Amino acid sequence: MEPHKIIFQLTELTDKEFVEIFYSAVAERKPIDGESGRRFVLAETSDSYGDIISTSFVAEDNKKHYPQGWSADALISQNGRCNECGVSIVSISKQAICPICNTEAYCT
Ligand SMILES: [Zn+2]
Repeated sequence: MEPHKIIFQLTELTDKEFVEIFYSAVAERKPIDGESGRRFVLAETSDSYGDIISTSFVAEDNKKHYPQGWSADALISQNGRCNECGVSIVSISKQAICPICNTEAYCT
């Protein structure tokens, strides 16, 4: 494994591609420390002059609603809150899957 090549390839991805590859890799990984239920999730945060303004979990699109998929350059432009677990999420789509509780969520 050559980490610098992997890092370079990841930096070349669009945001949509990066999110999909991240969650695909997480799905294939063993649980953290071998404990069931512990896993990595992706989050997005923004700050202004060092002060955190917001942090949201990045959710994948709900593929049930978008069988045609999305173009590689689709932007993470939708945001919302999971009705099940209450976390703030962002996604490329209005219909998303919450990465925390794995339920359907809606963004605007
Ligand atoms: Zn949730």
